[in-house]
Amino acid sequence: MRVLLLYPLFPKSFWSFDKALELIGRKVSLPPLGMITVAAILPQTWEFRLVDRNVRFETEADWEWADLVIISGMIVQKPDMVHLIREAKRRGKLVAAGGPYVTSVPDAAQEAGVDFLVLDEGEITLPLLVEALSRGETSGVLRANGEKPDVTTTPVPRFDLLDLNAYNEMSVQFSRGCPFQCEFCDIIVLYGRKPRTKTPAQMIAELQALYDLGWRRSVFMVDDNFIGNKRNVKLMLRELVPWMVAHDYPFRFATEASVDLAQDEELLDLMVEANFGGVFLGIETPDTESLALTQKFQNTRNSLIESVQKINQAGLSVMAGFILGFDDEKPGAGDRIIEFVEATAIPKAMFGMLQALPNTALWKRLQKEGRLLEENQETQGHQMALMNFVPTRPVEELAREYVNCFWELYEPERYLARVHRHFMNMKPAPHKVPFRMLDLVEMKAVLTICWRQGIKRSTRFQFWGQLFSIIRRNPKMFVPYLSNCALLEHFIQYRQSVREEVEAQLAEYLANKPKPQSLAVLSS
Ligand code: SF4
Repeated sequence: MRVLLLYPLFPKSFWSFDKALELIGRKVSLPPLGMITVAAILPQTWEFRLVDRNVRFETEADWEWADLVIISGMIVQKPDMVHLIREAKRRGKLVAAGGPYVTSVPDAAQEAGVDFLVLDEGEITLPLLVEALSRGETSGVLRANGEKPDVTTTPVPRFDLLDLNAYNEMSVQFSRGCPFQCEFCDIIVLYGRKPRTKTPAQMIAELQALYDLGWRRSVFMVDDNFIGNKRNVKLMLRELVPWMVAHDYPFRFATEASVDLAQDEELLDLMVEANFGGVFLGIETPDTESLALTQKFQNTRNSLIESVQKINQAGLSVMAGFILGFDDEKPGAGDRIIEFVEATAIPKAMFGMLQALPNTALWKRLQKEGRLLEENQETQGHQMALMNFVPTRPVEELAREYVNCFWELYEPERYLARVHRHFMNMKPAPHKVPFRMLDLVEMKAVLTICWRQGIKRSTRFQFWGQLFSIIRRNPKMFVPYLSNCALLEHFIQYRQSVREEVEAQLAEYLANKPKPQSLAVLSS
């Protein structure tokens, strides 16, 4: 069986870092880990060809070669996913679709003509697909019926199918699921509240596979909450540390975690020892009432500012996500987020207006209250989209606060000052990370940053002053500091796109103000 794995296009987003990636000759931040895991679960006697459309487009020869086309993706990839299903069917191919979006909302894939819906987690449903095909079946809906797979049996992803040069980071996954119950979160709907972790040996085998392929850069642990099972994560880190030492620290890790990480010093130390350099925290809002209302109680137990500072000082760079538009939010939430980001000196702060994702507790509540908006469901999951429900505050006020947050925080001088404060506060890792010479492309990127930020723009005095201060007072932070400066190239463009796109949507919204409806049609 010849399987063409197609990974649909992503729209531009906060995390796409296009302008910064361009500088270092990479095409995309992260690879399609789900797709290469699918390839590892299916029979290894089958042949696989992976096309990540964010890297390159498929050719007619790819289509002709394939006996089976598999397509997977997230909610934001829906338009391209639908396009690909139609293209495959137009060529008479057998098509299977799966992944988080299709699992939540299978309708669009069905309407596009997909043959097999392979829903829920692939460890359970992909073997069902293999069985169905061996029986000669040509269509079907394969479900796990509430069963969650034991991820200790998940094979090492087929990293060999990737064009490694196209990606800035590699990704691996240690756990699925999260013990918390944030009202807006679809992770707990898809993967459950009992975190399931791989074994330390499994993680080392995955990292060894990357090492053997020659990978020597960053690795993102894509868990939605890396510390969902603290006991198991510590066991894994205790085995990872000696492996990293024995291999001369080939990777630098980053991940996502809940903010209670700050209260576990042992875990923080282990992460730093294992060469973790960054962590994404879902702060959501500094407003305690909103956190309680959205059931993010773990963020209300300790001072959020102190928690972020503690994690940063321990040696992890903090990225954070914020949301505007919780019910009963008081005006000025955007300004309160700006104050929080400045107080904690978080360089990369990402914002979104609250979106109700299908089947979440928030979705169900809003549906009951008749507040979901049919006309805004198409843009679900897009970071620049207006809300897909009727908020308790005026939409225009929220949209303006949202644009203002981006505009203010990514004002070049302000951003660079935050990056400087952040990396000055950060304790360097105790171990000696091997020195690596920059290659020609990286050298050119550094010169471009120096030219743009240190000569051409009004940041010139600040840029050199801060650079020398890092070199003098916290030299081990030089590389991450400069990498974050490079991201300014992306943020300058992104804040402009946010302003234009949100203002355009707002104008349209004000022209045809939608009416709330009770939407039986959205009850899937
Ligand atoms: S902590 Fe993060 S992953 Fe866990 S439920 Fe909340 S939003 Fe979801």
